[in-house]
Amino acid sequence: MKAIIQDLSYNQIKELVASYGQPAFRAKQLYEGLTQGKDISQISTLPAALKSRLLEDFEDCAIKIIETFESADGTKKFLFELADGNIIEGVLMSYKYGNTQCVSTQVGCRMGCKFCASTLNGRIRDLSSGEILSQILKVNAAYGGTKEKRAVTNVVLMGSGEPFDNYGNVVEFLKNLTAAEGLNISARNISLSTCGLVDKMYAFADDGIPLNLTVSLHATTDEERARTMPIANKWSIAQILQACDNYFAKTGRRYIFEYSLIEGENCDRRHAEDLISLLKGRPCHVNLIRLNEVKERTLKATDEQSAYRFLGLLEKGGLSATLRRQMGADIGGACGQLRASYIDSSRK
Ligand code: SAH
Repeated sequence: MKAIIQDLSYNQIKELVASYGQPAFRAKQLYEGLTQGKDISQISTLPAALKSRLLEDFEDCAIKIIETFESADGTKKFLFELADGNIIEGVLMSYKYGNTQCVSTQVGCRMGCKFCASTLNGRIRDLSSGEILSQILKVNAAYGGTKEKRAVTNVVLMGSGEPFDNYGNVVEFLKNLTAAEGLNISARNISLSTCGLVDKMYAFADDGIPLNLTVSLHATTDEERARTMPIANKWSIAQILQACDNYFAKTGRRYIFEYSLIEGENCDRRHAEDLISLLKGRPCHVNLIRLNEVKERTLKATDEQSAYRFLGLLEKGGLSATLRRQMGADIGGACGQLRASYIDSSRK
């Protein structure tokens, strides 16, 4: 596989074009074309000779949408093919305030969470920053978005992969996504979810990107957490909370916990009480999700009524909490489900 041109920042594109002995305005045309979601060969403002020079060094197409599924609720789910043939997936959800795209950061995942479909076959490879960015460039373009009027207004790093297990590429991606010359999406409109790689949470606070930092908690004690999340054997909940407080101190952004309600596992009254004593008074929000049942896994979702009861307990205890509306359940909404079923069906 050749290099991915979307890995480059605007400054790096300028240096590249200069190194080819081309005038500076070509860099602007090239960067604009890429920001519009075009492949190199599709950028009509560039002369043919420059395009063939670029194609010696770079893949023409970093990523392409190979299938789109539409849910009855308007949620769209995509299968993307990378230049090396690997398959990843993404989602676009419509809300009153705009459209949120969920992107993948790795092909597969090696974190091993028991409820998650992304990790079933482990991690195949990291995505480069340009491969993460191109998911958004392609979807924005597919829905008629431009740089000025984006079809994708918000981004969540909640697809397949653990963003902090691909730290360098993810930070580079965030810089390029928020760059004024590019799509220019504000960090406030970006959420990054981690299963809690505490050392990287500290590094990220030092990098100072003020986005919505989200941590997958899913349990209230380290022992119980380790039953579904192997990462709990490495970092404790206490260490996670300290790292979150450090992020708040450095960026001024409150943080969010995701808590997927699993029947018989983590949603009794005692768990609500635990959460209240862990989180009360902290600058945080709790996002409850009813488990999306994955066919390869045995864990079961709580029913809706119990989910609302759990939410009520948290609110009564003084926490800021919401129960996330389930979207796209009819099209394989949960992380990694679509890719898993695609790979399954192409094996048959
Ligand atoms: N690796 C990151 C990014 C994944 S984000 C992380 O662990 O945070 C996706 C969120 O959905 C995480 O909170 C993850 O734990 C959760 N999740 C994964 N599979 C799920 C499922 N089947 N049902 C409900 N939530 C799930």
